[in-house]
Order: sequence, then C-alpha cells, then structure tokens
Amino acid sequence: METQDAEVRWMRKVAKLYPAAKGSLREVRKNCSHPGCKVCSSGERHPAWLLTYYLDGKQCSKHVPKKMVGVMKKALANGRKLEDLMVASGLEVIDAYKKR
Ligand SMILES: [Zn+2]
Repeated sequence: METQDAEVRWMRKVAKLYPAAKGSLREVRKNCSHPGCKVCSSGERHPAWLLTYYLDGKQCSKHVPKKMVGVMKKALANGRKLEDLMVASGLEVIDAYKKR
C-alpha cells in the first residue's frame, strides 16, 4: 500500500515535468544549400539552433526549428528538475526501506 502511494506521488511529479529533455541548446551559423546565396557568400551565414546530447557515450546533435527554441529551453529546464527528482527519489527509497 505504501509503495503504491509512493508510485502515484512519483507519477504525478514526473507528469508535471513534460516535456523533458537532456542536452544543451546552442545557436550556430550554417551555410544553406542555395547556390549564390548572398548571406552565405558574405560569410555571415544563417543562424540555426542545435540540440547537442550524448547517446551511448557518443556526442550527437539535432537541428531545432527556431519556433521550437522556447519549448526546448523549457524541456531542458524540466530535464534538470527531473534529475533532481531522481536524486531525491533514490534517498526516499532508502529511507522507506529502513522503516520496514
Ligand atoms: Zn545561404
């Protein structure tokens, strides 16, 4: 019974942290594929956003559409809160076990 309550409390906390992500968001400059593009040939290039993350120990990155940057910032903040929540949960599990 006590375990079920803890599970429900955990699910409620985690559900509030949707969407969650882990990685870092950064703005870069990229060349486009249009031949003779004035922005590219001037050396200025086009601003773009990338999410950099690790998968199986390998660094990867994915393009983030500009209109999604706000959502990704929120998701990354939620991801950090989720990590804090996992740390707290691990400690709670130990304390709950000791009380049995
Ligand atoms: Zn261009």
